[in-house]
Amino acid sequence: MTNERKVTDIKNIVILTGAGVSAESGIDTFRSAGGLWEKHRVEDVATPEAFARDPDLVLRFYDMRRERIQEVLPNAAHHALACLDAEWKGGLLIVTQNVDDLHERAGARRLLHMHGEHLNAWCTACDQRHVWRGTLFERPSCPACGVPGQLRPDIVWFGEMPYRMEEIYAALNRADLFVSIGTSGAVYPAAGFVRDAREQGVRTLELNLEPSQGSHWFDESRYGAATEVVPAWVDEILRG
Ligand code: NAD
Repeated sequence: MTNERKVTDIKNIVILTGAGVSAESGIDTFRSAGGLWEKHRVEDVATPEAFARDPDLVLRFYDMRRERIQEVLPNAAHHALACLDAEWKGGLLIVTQNVDDLHERAGARRLLHMHGEHLNAWCTACDQRHVWRGTLFERPSCPACGVPGQLRPDIVWFGEMPYRMEEIYAALNRADLFVSIGTSGAVYPAAGFVRDAREQGVRTLELNLEPSQGSHWFDESRYGAATEVVPAWVDEILRG
């Protein structure tokens, strides 16, 4: 089944981005290097159980990641999507699984972080979130409630509920085009968006280095580095 909606009919776009968009900025994707994430098993650093078992390891790991993302720059794919955001007159929502801030540093505004943000800390005592650029390992006090040792990375770990799902599904309901960029299609619920979109007659496009796990769900797939395929596609869609 191929969705027949023409490019000229497209008004509302939902874009899902993953770690592949930031790879050429120098941030490791999830399962590069033999299935390990920055030399750690995912279960050891990205679950609530891991945090309860070994908070020092988890906090140190995220402190390093937080430091790293502040050293890198947005690449041509982030810039192209920011340009689309600025120029596209129809509806647009960029849903990112990434926890870096490279989309917004490139200038994207119609953006939602479904898996949280590295540069936020969340106080589990008072439920406030704070922009956080330093370390959490030293167990600082919450700037709002003053309770020490209750700040954790504002990251949605495996087994936790992603943020703003209602907004995402509402945007998918209105969409004419769903584009998935630089994601392996292994992490749910994001991996299921293409199926949801397809079932509602939304045209679907994949831009990735290689076929993702759900590549057969897409009407069209274009393979290559994000810094090449994303600017080319943005150029094409803006020129109609
Ligand atoms: P993933 O690592 O599972 O998949 C990355 C995908 O990007 C792969 O399909 C790979 O082929 C592709 N890719 C790699 N280099 C590319 C390039 N230069 N151009 C285009 N595509 C490229 O990542 P995921 O699907 O996003 O899921 C992993 C989870 O890990 C997400 O939930 C995310 O929160 C988290 N994560 C985030 C970051 C970040 O914020 N930058 C980095 C690593 C992991």
